Amino acid sequence: MSTKHSLAAHEILKDKERVTRHDQTFWSVRMKRDLMASHLPEWEELRNHASDIKKHTITHLADYLEQFATNLESRGVIVHWAKDADELNEMVYGILETHKVTKMVKSKSMLTEECGLNDFLIQRGIDVVETDLGERILQLMNEHPAHIVMPAIHITREEVGRMFEEKGISKETGNYDPTYLTRCARHHLREEFMEAQAGLTGCNFGVAKTGDIVVCTNEGNADMSTSMPKLHIVTMGLEKLVPDYESLAVFQRLLCRCGTGQPTTTYTSHFRQARPGGEMHVVLLDNGRSDIVADPQHWETLKCIRCGACMNTCPVYRRSTGASYTYFIPGPIGVNLGMLKDPQQHSENVSACTLCLSCDTVCPAEVAPGSQIYYWRQSLEAIGKADKLKKMMSTGMKMLYSSPSLYTTALKFAPLANYIPEKLTHFSTLNPWGIGHAKPVFAKKSFHEMWKKGELK
Ligand code: SF4
Repeated sequence: MSTKHSLAAHEILKDKERVTRHDQTFWSVRMKRDLMASHLPEWEELRNHASDIKKHTITHLADYLEQFATNLESRGVIVHWAKDADELNEMVYGILETHKVTKMVKSKSMLTEECGLNDFLIQRGIDVVETDLGERILQLMNEHPAHIVMPAIHITREEVGRMFEEKGISKETGNYDPTYLTRCARHHLREEFMEAQAGLTGCNFGVAKTGDIVVCTNEGNADMSTSMPKLHIVTMGLEKLVPDYESLAVFQRLLCRCGTGQPTTTYTSHFRQARPGGEMHVVLLDNGRSDIVADPQHWETLKCIRCGACMNTCPVYRRSTGASYTYFIPGPIGVNLGMLKDPQQHSENVSACTLCLSCDTVCPAEVAPGSQIYYWRQSLEAIGKADKLKKMMSTGMKMLYSSPSLYTTALKFAPLANYIPEKLTHFSTLNPWGIGHAKPVFAKKSFHEMWKKGELK
């Protein structure tokens, strides 16, 4: 059962220090993004171009998929087509079983979160080890990512240090120095890389013309995951394709600048075939994506390159954190993806938006996630998910604004609301969004009244 976003946010907001840190961290990433964008005079043209490339690719997806698969197969890569999450999980398990794999290292992949692959494999006796540092921390803490690019940013180094001590990864009690902790993690992961018989990576971009799998990381863990074990499995969504290297260059310039405020990721690796003596498999997943192509209002979500910029800028995400949303991808794009997956289960997330549309402005692929949330809100009534209280309030507001005499009378009496205790207006389930906000004070005289009496200077 889903938890109302606003109520979950209410709980999270109780820890003011954590929320403030979260807010400031992501705002600083947003500022870095702005600085990077300001260094490129052609920034807006790049965004436009990226959007056009995605639109072209998505509307010619069948052709590009065929070209991509043919190129991979010509070099001996085995290509699989999964229609949904269950099929993908079975396929990956089948490959691992054939190779008698007992341990698999894995670089970050939100697609495997979408499919619940880790749990599926672990239940079948395969030791799955996340190798992205943030993901590994979350895995050891039994938590899920709270952001698509910086999954464990909400966890402090003291918390990481204590957990490393408990797991025997750190031998020095009370040493929470980031360099020391990173060294411990590095040492711990090195063992895992050496022991694993298979490595799984996601895919940031698939280049149709050349059949390249392009993976961008800052830690080089995708490269370690694929250069130690002989078996490499790639899982990717159909929408990850770009036509050629020229298109890839456009996204390369945008992805990291928008995501973390860096000019590029530290490692951009191209995988084209198996290592000598090894085997490479690519599993392409649909899982509802081909239905989204045909959705006139929401097909643009397929243009998303998962940079996370819409989360970093979103005032609701920054203050309520990734843990408040019901879908595994939070923030503006997550609200949309959740609704596309299961509108009944995730409809409450659409209220987690101020409609400031800052996300539309920063998105490198012009997905316009905020504008799409606005469309979702309009469809809530049709799916039986419109909030009764909000409906009642909207009807009241409609009456008020369509009758000038009623509006003027209401304005006269509005200052009386100043005497209602804040406890009643802000600290009840009637108005969970009021929590943490000061009650606005109504002016004694309205603008209309002052205007009419010539009191405005
Ligand atoms: S919707 Fe845009 S800003 Fe948000 S993650 Fe996707 S590409 Fe980035």
